[in-house]
Amino acid sequence: MAGMLYLVPTPIGNLGDISLRCRQTLEEADFIAAEDTRVTLKLLNHLGIKKSLVSYYEHNKASKGNFILERILNGETCALVSDAGSPAISDPGEDLVKQCAEAGITVCAIPGPCAVITALSISGQSTGRFCFEGFLSTAKKSRREHLEALVSEQRTMIFYEAPHKLPATLEDMAEAFGGDRPISLCRELTKLHEEVIRTTLAEAIEMYKVTPPKGEFVLVVAGAPEIPKEEKTPEDAAAMVLRLMEEGLSRKDAIKQTAQTLDLPKNVVYAAALLVEDN
Ligand code: SAM
Repeated sequence: MAGMLYLVPTPIGNLGDISLRCRQTLEEADFIAAEDTRVTLKLLNHLGIKKSLVSYYEHNKASKGNFILERILNGETCALVSDAGSPAISDPGEDLVKQCAEAGITVCAIPGPCAVITALSISGQSTGRFCFEGFLSTAKKSRREHLEALVSEQRTMIFYEAPHKLPATLEDMAEAFGGDRPISLCRELTKLHEEVIRTTLAEAIEMYKVTPPKGEFVLVVAGAPEIPKEEKTPEDAAAMVLRLMEEGLSRKDAIKQTAQTLDLPKNVVYAAALLVEDN
């Protein structure tokens, strides 16, 4: 009979956050697949657990995935952990879950620490509807394209980001969403220096010019304000283009952003923008 795959979340900063069920699963599994065996060994030592470890990370997941799958099909139970938080969420695991599901293996996800949910719940932003956007690309062009696609997103948006990339990301976000868009910068969650800064994109940019960001961050950005249907007229479009240009956007970018935000055809916004310029 085939074994099982358990997804075991581990603390994102506070070792006290390991649950009884996670601990028991790590104790009872036949083997543990870990993103970084050295990191997991520290956790296992803390818990007093001795267990055979298999490394499973981004660059060996194709070959190791097959190896792990075979062991599970032969009846072993595998507990998958990442360095911190929930496996498969911006972490290795997604492919292994797919492989197991395709092979008819039971996958059990144990609930537990996850940076995206911890940040959202503490952010003070709307939590009713949200979207998780993971890490933005390090390449400027694709990062901007990603953000442009979110210009009219009304749900709360959540991003993971590394501190050294944060200033550039905030600049790009301000350009796409406007500097007055609210953001909660959730830093070092569950750790000694946990901090939540609830501010705007423009203020965050200024703040980090003075004190460069340090630590781990989740960015929780308010969605675009809802625009009542009756306001979606060419006159509103003209006003929005003008406002965005006053905020520093080029005419081309202001037209593009207005068309996306108001869900109007670009040529209608273009015509409206001409009116602005004529007056
Ligand atoms: N799978 C993990 C989870 O969902 O919790 C996330 C793994 S991802 C590789 C790591 C990113 O999660 C970090 O770059 C940071 O954006 C966020 N993160 C992890 N721990 C954090 C913490 N304690 N405080 C703030 N952000 C954290």
